[in-house]
Amino acid sequence: MIGILGGTFDPVHYGHLRVALDVKEIFGLTEVRLIPSAIPPHREQPAASALMRSEMLALAVKNQPGLRVDARELDRPGASYMVDTLYSLRQDFPAQALLLFIGTDAFNHLTDWYRWRDLFDYAHLVVMTRPGITMQKIDGFFNGRLARNKQELAQAIAGKLFFQTVTQLDISATAIRRMIAEKQNPGFLLPDAVIAYIKQNKLYETEET
Ligand code: ATP
Repeated sequence: MIGILGGTFDPVHYGHLRVALDVKEIFGLTEVRLIPSAIPPHREQPAASALMRSEMLALAVKNQPGLRVDARELDRPGASYMVDTLYSLRQDFPAQALLLFIGTDAFNHLTDWYRWRDLFDYAHLVVMTRPGITMQKIDGFFNGRLARNKQELAQAIAGKLFFQTVTQLDISATAIRRMIAEKQNPGFLLPDAVIAYIKQNKLYETEET
């Protein structure tokens, strides 16, 4: 089984890296692919270029076997739709279960995603919840796909929905960018190699508007 964690990673931080490791171990995944979104369709465009965001990711996972950067969205023109990314991964891995991990916030807006129902043709969807938060009510389309336990995910290569609690570190890329613009030290929120890269390339030095 292969895990997929998409995001803007502007920049990658320990919140992302810890959940990647969590889900790798919880689901016994062969690998987790961190996929930087080249042109995110549903939000403001990132401050750092897609290439720089994927270089920061590569530095972050360098010594972590099982976590890898997948830069396939960088080669596609136009908005980076997850359904296209999953289709492309499915071509590479025709027989393996794919697990797409998304945060609760993203799940709450899933029905706004381009061709969201088709995501389930290519992958299982795993919603990463916070400890102590009870699952919100789901119905209809989602209810019929709900897996009762994680073992069910291994029985098909796609099509199921599952909720999994993961470690929540109170870290966000937005807060890190703001700290850097305000000349505060972001140490221990993200890997040192990423901090060095940010400094070298003078990223995030001006406040966002
Ligand atoms: P921004 O602050 O720029 O919105 P972000 O820190 O939320 O960025 P994204 O790249 O948008 O990071 O997130 C990618 C994925 O990682 C999403 O599924 C998101 O829910 C999850 N994620 C982000 N931060 C954390 C965190 N601290 N703990 C657990 N999951 C996180």
